[in-house]
Order: sequence, then C-alpha cells, then structure tokens
Amino acid sequence: MSRIIDGKLFAQRLREFIGQQVAIIKTEHGVVPGLATILVGQNPASEVYVRNKARQTVEAGMASFKHTLDATISQAELLGLIAELNANEDVHGILVQLPLPAHISAERVINAIDPRKDVDGFHVSNVGMLGTGQPAMLPCTPLGCMMLLREQFGSLTGKNALVVGRSNIVGKPMAQLLLADDCTVTIAHRYSENLEEHCRRADILVMAVGKPQMIPGTWIKPGATVIDVGINRIERNGKPTLVGDVDFTSASEVAGAITPVPGGVGPMTIACLLLNTLTAFCRSKGMPEPANSGLELVNGIGVIQEFKKAS
Ligand code: NAD
Repeated sequence: MSRIIDGKLFAQRLREFIGQQVAIIKTEHGVVPGLATILVGQNPASEVYVRNKARQTVEAGMASFKHTLDATISQAELLGLIAELNANEDVHGILVQLPLPAHISAERVINAIDPRKDVDGFHVSNVGMLGTGQPAMLPCTPLGCMMLLREQFGSLTGKNALVVGRSNIVGKPMAQLLLADDCTVTIAHRYSENLEEHCRRADILVMAVGKPQMIPGTWIKPGATVIDVGINRIERNGKPTLVGDVDFTSASEVAGAITPVPGGVGPMTIACLLLNTLTAFCRSKGMPEPANSGLELVNGIGVIQEFKKAS
C-alpha cells in the first residue's frame, strides 16, 4: 500500500508559514502584501475558485482586492483595469481567473500584467525566465507539485519523470521544473504512442490530462511516486464524486507514494498563489524572499531559491 501524500496538510502548513511571515512584515513595516483577483462573467466553477482564493488571502493576513466584472466588458476596459492594478502600489499580485469570455484574448490580457505581479506565472516573460533558469514567478500548480515531490524525495536528481499533458498552465511548466531539478523528463500528450510503456519506466508520474481514472495501477512502476493533477467530476453510486486521472484504488497498491483526489495537488495550488504573492511583495520591496525557515514540511519553499541559482 502506498504512502498517501497529504497535500491538504502540506498546504495548511504552508499557509500557516505564509501567515507568520505576513504578520512579521506587518509588525516591522506596517504594510501587507495585496492580491487582486479579476473574475469576468458568471462561470460557477470560477466563482468558487476566486472566492476561495480571496478568503485564503485574507486568512493569511494579506489584503484582497476583488474585481467582479460583467461578461460583456470589453477587452479595452479589462486592459484598463489591469493598467490601474499594475500602477497600484498596494497590489503586489494580479490574478485573472481563466477562462475569459470568447471576445477577450486571454493571451493579450495575461501579457498586459506587470510580470512582477504575475502571481500565476503565465506571462510570457515568466515562462521564458523559467525556461532559462532565471528567477521567474512559477505557476502555482506545478510549484505545488514540486514541493510535494521535494518533500517526498529530497533530491530528484536522475529520476525518470513522465508528465502526461502539455498545457501551458500545468504540463509544460511542470516538465521545465522537473528538468531544472535534474530529472530525465518525458512529456506525453494526446498523440503519444505507447503511453503504458512510458508509464512503466517512470519513477515520477505526473498526470495532468483531465480524463477520469485513465491510468490503471498495472501501468505504474512498482514504488513510483504518482502526482495526480487531474480533477474530474463523475457519478459514483448515483452521487457526484471527484476523481483524478489515475485509478487511485489500483494505483495505490503499486505506487510508493500517491496524491489523492481530492486532497492532493488541489489545496497546494492556492497555497502557492499566496506564496507567490508574498514573494512578489518581497521582491517589490527589496526584502529577503521567503525561504526555508527550518520547518521540515516547508522545505519545498527552497524550490524558489534553487531555481534562482539554476544555470
Ligand atoms: P488541458 O485540457 O489544457 O490539457 C490536457 C492535456 O492532456 C493536453 O496537453 C492533451 O494533449 C493531453 N491529453 C489529452 N488526452 C490524452 C491522452 N489520452 N493521453 C495523453 N495525453 C492526453 O488541461 P489542463 O488545464 O492542463 O488540466 C489538466 C487537468 O488538471 C484537468 O483535469 C484540470 O481540471 C486539472 N487541473 C488541476 C489543478 C489543481 O489545482 N489541482 C490545476 C489546473 C488543472
């Protein structure tokens, strides 16, 4: 039976750590980091995500600036708001919840955010900096996955890692982070052949596809670490249930360690958004960035420092 990687607990400790750092900054400097969220339209899932992000921002002692805009807002108006937030000294992070309505270019909007405030790490300059080993804002979900892996392994050097999925928000940056951490990285996608063979070779399997339980336990290398990013809603016994891209029951018989869905990667994403906001604040003020404070479970925070040094 696998070790279950408790992302919920890790995320809670990370948020506590961030809250402590914010409290120290507030006492010493009288200011707090601020995160602006922008939600356009009324997508119910997006509303839940933004509400949770704003609530956890406030719980960590930071300022939350919520902007809820009508679906009919023009691209020019949205770009105007982003320009205002870029110039606002109380705002250190800007998050535009995706997807955006079809008449607005997500690419145009994301690239209008000041890269220093791009706490999602999606701006093209942060993507380029990650790819070239410079101190980027790292995308939240892959950063959370890396923390869980770091906690599991310490060093990832030389591991065979397979990332299934090549989206800009999860698969590609995940592969970049694993590569920067000295793994041998394979990226699989919808046109890949022999996925089973690739899976069998992987010491680390990161699934980011969005297909319920597509990987059975029999495909997994015994003792491998499985990070399941997928979030899929299915019906089980007539009840709506969340499952990952991996068949958890059979996989947990074979894997050495595995993240559950829910309670694995999901909670790490918001915690890393808060961490990125704190990091953006510290960079804007020329303060030392959050680093490993000695708390065993936040060792992963060192990831940020490691990538600054990467060449
Ligand atoms: P996406 O739809 O943008 O990308 C899916 C990728 O899967 C594509 O690159 C595609 O080539 C690949 N793919 C599709 N079918 C495949 C197959 N049969 N074999 C191999 N590869 C295949 O999705 P995304 O935004 O990267 O999200 C992926 C999943 O992760 C979704 O379930 C999403 O809900 C979840 N997600 C979770 C979090 C979190 O916080 N836990 C964050 C982001 C996304």
